Amino acid sequence: MNQRLEEINSRIRKAAEQCGRDPQSVRLVAVSKTVPSERVLEAINSGVTILGENYIQEARQKFDALNAHPIAWHFIGHLQTNKAKYAVRIFDLIHSVDSIKLAREINKRAARINKIQNILVQVNISQEASKSGVHVDHIKPLIQEISGMSNLKIKGLMTMPPFFNQPEKVRPYFGALRNLRDELLIRENVIDAGLHELSMGMTGDFEVAIQEGATLVRIGTAIFGARK
Ligand SMILES: *Cc1c(COP(=O)(O)O)cnc(C)c1O
Repeated sequence: MNQRLEEINSRIRKAAEQCGRDPQSVRLVAVSKTVPSERVLEAINSGVTILGENYIQEARQKFDALNAHPIAWHFIGHLQTNKAKYAVRIFDLIHSVDSIKLAREINKRAARINKIQNILVQVNISQEASKSGVHVDHIKPLIQEISGMSNLKIKGLMTMPPFFNQPEKVRPYFGALRNLRDELLIRENVIDAGLHELSMGMTGDFEVAIQEGATLVRIGTAIFGARK
């Protein structure tokens, strides 16, 4: 575990340095879906500071088991509105907000526990019908709506590009997400400068994602091995 993590951290560092970025500007989200708590604990003991979980039920159990450790919890899966009440109790950052309905529910549930919930807006950058995420045409109205919600704070954008075996094929999608972030940040001025995070890049393509500006890379397989 230790060795795997060292290797990934060194690849992250190299990818950042090669394109003139500060390696500290890229954070590793260790994606621990389906991985039992004991193995997640090994990762924490090896220096992991952010966990990414996809399923609320599973995350609640792990949170109970690992909550005492000083780690940040990120939700990266599809969030059903009826699970928002659990999500706000556990997660420091929810990467997958992609509708006004979901945003409203998270806002309401966060308000009840007096929390400002940090979120990312998930963008369907490839505009494939099967993918979750907000369509590019609907992103500005969604962000504008969310900016009016008192218990949500948008920290940036997230995307899941189409799957390719060659990371170079994914590069245009990562670049498109960065351009969209820059456009929203600079030209549209739709919300405050909090919108800097770019959650993109997984085991197969995180170096390319870093070259295109990723600030959060979500890596599971390279840390924990193949999932069943
Ligand atoms: C599972 C998952 C990952 C991690 O994928 P790996 O290829 O195992 O690194 C990243 N992001 C999301 C949204 C996931 O569901």
